[in-house]
Amino acid sequence: MPTCKLSGPKRPLFAARVRRLFRRAPNLNDGSKMLDIQLPDGTVVSHPDDATPLSVANAIGSRLAKAVIAAKVGTSVIDASRPLKPFSNGSPIPLRLLTEKDPEALDVLRHSSAHIMARAVMRIFPDVSLAFGPTISNGFYYDFFLPHKLTEEDFAKIEQEMAAIIAKAEPFEQFSLDREQAVSLCKDMNQGLKVEHIQTGLASHPELGFYRQGEFVDLCRGPHIPDAGRVKAFKIMSVAGSHWKGDMSGPQLQRLYGTAWFDKKDLQAHLDQLEEAKKRDHRVLGKKLGLYQITPDVGQGMCLWMPKGARVRSLLEDFLRREMLKRGYEPVYSPHLGRVELYETSGHFPYYRDSQFPPLFVHDAGALVDAWARRLSEDEDFGPKQETMFLQAAEVLGFDAQTYSKAEGKEAKLAALNDWQRNHERFLVKPMNCPHHAQIFKAQPRSYRDLPLRLFEFGTVYRYEQTGELNGMLRVRGLTQDDAHIFCTADQVEEEFRNTIELTRFVLESVGLQDYRVQLSLRDPKSDKYVGSEENWQKAEAALRRVLEESGLNFNAAEGEAAFYGPKADFMVRDCIGRHWQLGTVQLDYNLPERFQLEYTGADNKSHRPVMIHRAPFGSMERFVGMLIEHFAGAFPMWLAPEQIRICPLSEKTNDYALELQKLFTEAGFRVTTDLRGAKVQAKIRDAQLDLIPYMAVIGPKEAETRSIALRDRIAGELGTKPLDEVFAMLSQEVATRQIRQVAERKFAEPPPASESSSHEY
Ligand SMILES: [Zn+2]
Ligand SMILES: [Zn+2]
Repeated sequence: MPTCKLSGPKRPLFAARVRRLFRRAPNLNDGSKMLDIQLPDGTVVSHPDDATPLSVANAIGSRLAKAVIAAKVGTSVIDASRPLKPFSNGSPIPLRLLTEKDPEALDVLRHSSAHIMARAVMRIFPDVSLAFGPTISNGFYYDFFLPHKLTEEDFAKIEQEMAAIIAKAEPFEQFSLDREQAVSLCKDMNQGLKVEHIQTGLASHPELGFYRQGEFVDLCRGPHIPDAGRVKAFKIMSVAGSHWKGDMSGPQLQRLYGTAWFDKKDLQAHLDQLEEAKKRDHRVLGKKLGLYQITPDVGQGMCLWMPKGARVRSLLEDFLRREMLKRGYEPVYSPHLGRVELYETSGHFPYYRDSQFPPLFVHDAGALVDAWARRLSEDEDFGPKQETMFLQAAEVLGFDAQTYSKAEGKEAKLAALNDWQRNHERFLVKPMNCPHHAQIFKAQPRSYRDLPLRLFEFGTVYRYEQTGELNGMLRVRGLTQDDAHIFCTADQVEEEFRNTIELTRFVLESVGLQDYRVQLSLRDPKSDKYVGSEENWQKAEAALRRVLEESGLNFNAAEGEAAFYGPKADFMVRDCIGRHWQLGTVQLDYNLPERFQLEYTGADNKSHRPVMIHRAPFGSMERFVGMLIEHFAGAFPMWLAPEQIRICPLSEKTNDYALELQKLFTEAGFRVTTDLRGAKVQAKIRDAQLDLIPYMAVIGPKEAETRSIALRDRIAGELGTKPLDEVFAMLSQEVATRQIRQVAERKFAEPPPASESSSHEY
């Protein structure tokens, strides 16, 4: 890692250089030809060949021109002032003008805000070195190399400077330089990290783009908003440590996070949402309510389900199991390990090796032979000395080196190592359930009369997630999927898809998630990377579309988003505070049946390949329950609450009646405890409220005598004294109908959806 030079700025020199560059900007208008531009409604308009999105907007109307933030040509987002001519290829240029309403525009606004923030920081701390400033979900950040340690105390000053920059509303101007000029400009600006990036990461770029805004110039691919005045609301959120290009041994940087919006109301809605999300953090509530634990003794990313959390999970599993049995699924079980060869056949190994736990070898030399083979195949250069050392170590561990020693050349050596490995047992902790289920299909001859075959399992799989990626229950290393695989004929795909969509919908609505849409991922019609026959794809895509149209679900089709092995549908769910979660997936697969050579005998007595459908309405139990804790803020509805009723006797005198009640409730299938402490009943009620128990049964001498209950509802408060029968009937009804009563105390205005993240950097 080359070090970056961090001496003081030489502003005058660099400003003069930038001015010179602007004078040299070529005039693209030769005044002769016209450009054909196709607008989103299909109309084609002709414009002079120096047309820009802005000039096209102006021709439509000056109000539109003022509203334009950026533009989209095909799939690329560009500056409103970018010439369109380079996009012409004989057919009309497909142009969409982006205004504040488009999520892509928000992303452009945020990245521009990152420039504005960097400019403000540079004004306050002239010795800053800029690293990268991409957008992230709901905001942006910029990484700085800066001797001054940024703290929250600096935020107001930086924000003030940003406000001053925004008030001047200077334009963002793009220019390009050849490599030599680019390096020299970055050197003039004392931007050592940018110089290093041009020389290493961007070594293959003959030309580099820059953006200038006032005195501030940044190496950038863009696009940007027309001028800084478009930023209507922004806030610096936090600061954290980071490293240049994520390399822990590289320079330590400071990452300043911010957010920006087109409207102050949207910013406020976002801040309110964050505030509410903090209160609902499943990591805090999970611990406080005794739902789950992750301890260093067991390991990071390994979830321990405490009795109360396990209760919630088993209720969800029982619920789903009942539903699946009703819908013709059959339960199966498979072990947590499988032979490495199984995953070689499925393609999960070695392709996804980096996100899996390493293979387990029964033979002592296994891991060493595997490591040596991997290094060789990755073209690492080893001398004869290292090879001798490997052989000695391997022989100590019992490796028979005869074949390997005779092998000449890399390929032959690799073959010898791989043969040895194949002759010795090795296993993977299961990264996926699919190969196991494919083997269950294959374990006996199948006829078309057996199809569809729907196999389900709450199958635990293991993924080696990076430590930094782990996040409570939402991102773990061992997770249980509510997995199922449907094996069917191509003709049955439509019906099976309809059933899985219907099941997913039912499951989500049963936990009160009513607000969702479906993203249908389809093929890119221009690509040939897909497996499976053209006919099957066409049929399946049409069927999926038809099912979603008939379902009345809110869905959008995304061309080019399908995996190479089949189209899929994802459920994007919005929780009670407006956050989006991807839950529930239905995925068609033409690949695994091929790889595992799955077959069934058709009515024609010939062999056919089945289609496989992977589906998981919850996704994983860990992530789903983590999400539910946040959605309900820990207050699970009656049907899912780990403890549904707490009996609070007024004094010792009514303990007997309380314990009798506990027995009656338990026998009727309720989850109930009794608070027998000598404390005052007010204290017992307060604790039950804090534990988020849906109902409290307060028992005094009067209730004991009349065999009744003074019922208290966690949400509504006192419900008055009621006879036992009435209480049982009322609570049973609430459970049976899976009633969801309170989710959020108030409604959250939703800021416009924003793209997950994007890089405007090279
Ligand atoms: Zn930029
Ligand atoms: Zn699967």
